[in-house]
Amino acid sequence: MSTLEITDLAVSVSTEDGPKQILKGVTLTIDDGQTHAIMGPNGSGKSTLAYSIAGHPKYEITGGSVTLDGEDVLAMSVDERARAGLFLAMQYPVEVPGVSVANFLRTAKTAIDGEAPKLRTWVKDVNGALDRLNLDSTFSQRSVNEGFSGGEKKRHEIAQLELLDPKVAILDETDSGLDIDALKIVSEGVNRFREREGKGVLLITHYTRILRYITPDVVHVFVDGKVAESGGPELADKLEAEGYESYLPVAR
Ligand code: ADP
Ligand code: MG
Ligand code: MG
Repeated sequence: MSTLEITDLAVSVSTEDGPKQILKGVTLTIDDGQTHAIMGPNGSGKSTLAYSIAGHPKYEITGGSVTLDGEDVLAMSVDERARAGLFLAMQYPVEVPGVSVANFLRTAKTAIDGEAPKLRTWVKDVNGALDRLNLDSTFSQRSVNEGFSGGEKKRHEIAQLELLDPKVAILDETDSGLDIDALKIVSEGVNRFREREGKGVLLITHYTRILRYITPDVVHVFVDGKVAESGGPELADKLEAEGYESYLPVAR
C-alpha cells in the first residue's frame, strides 16, 4: 500500500523581511499505485512542496497535514521519512565530493532497510540499474554528482529510485535540462518503477514534454502555493496550448 495524503498544507520560509508564506493550503491525495503530475510556473512553490514533504529544515509547516498510509509524515525525522518509504529526487542534486556512487547507494540502502544488502545480489542490482540507465560501470566509482552532466545527475537519481525502492517517489523537475535521449531513458526508468506493485509518484514539472513519455493519472495545475485545478492527462494538453496565463492574477 502507498497512499500519500496532503491536506491543507501551509508552509512558510523565514526571510530578511520576516516569514513568507509559500504554500497556502495544498490538498491532494495520491492513491495506491497512482502517478500525479504537478505543473506550475516558476516560483509557484513546487520545490517547496517537495522539500516540505521530505522534511527540509528550512521550511516551516504552519498548517495542514501529510500522511503516508495513515502515518503522520510531518512528525517524522528526515531519516524516518525515508525509512517509511518516501523518496525525493531533487531539482538540483547536491555534490558529495569524496563519496563514490557505489558507497553512497550502499549506505543509503543500508540506512533504509536497517541492514546491509547481500553483497553478491547488490553488486548485480547496482550494475543492472546503471546499465538500464545507460551509465557505464565506471560510473559507480565517481564522486556523487561531482562533475556530472545534467543528464548524469538525473539518471543517477533514477538509479537511486530503482535500487532504494520507496513507496512514493517525488521527482522534482527530473526532466529539466535533459536532451531527448536522456529524457527517454529517465522516463523509462520512472515507468519501470511505476510497474512495480502499488507505487506512488508525484512528478513535478514545468514543461509538458515529459508527460508524453510518462502518462499521469491526475494532473494538478499549481499556482501561487496551491492547486488551482486538477484533472486528467488532457489538462496537460490544455496547458501545452494555453500556458499558465489564465491561472495567474489579472494585472490591473
Ligand atoms: P518552484 O519550484 O515552483 O519554482 P520554489 O518552491 O522554488 O518554486 O519557490 C517558491 C517561492 O518561494 C519563490 O518565490 C521563492 O523565491 C521562494 N522561496 C523559496 N525558498 C526560499 C527561501 N529559503 N527564502 C526566501 N524565499 C524562498
Ligand atoms: Mg523553479
Ligand atoms: Mg522548483
